[in-house]
Amino acid sequence: MDERHFFSEKPEQRPARFQCPRCRRTNDYSIRWMRRTKKAQPPPGAAARDRVLFDKVKDHLIRIDDDVTCKTCGKRFEIPSHRALVFLEELEGLPQDVDEEEDG
Ligand SMILES: [Zn+2]
Repeated sequence: MDERHFFSEKPEQRPARFQCPRCRRTNDYSIRWMRRTKKAQPPPGAAARDRVLFDKVKDHLIRIDDDVTCKTCGKRFEIPSHRALVFLEELEGLPQDVDEEEDG
């Protein structure tokens, strides 16, 4: 069973600050994430091993954007990949979500 069945997914945008590797300027960017909130119960049809997995998974955010366009020089650069997944419990005390409904 796909792990995604364990979660409700909701897209959101979060602010982040990155330094462009080309021009070295630091700017604030709005990065797209998918918020995956664990459902109250395993999905119908979950096998025993799916239930074990369900017990282990936690609410988290998965980053959708892999790169950003530098606001200073206009070049695209890659977002450091070590923060592509964030557990919601790590977000305590961080800035609130940016509530923007934007497509593309
Ligand atoms: Zn730049």
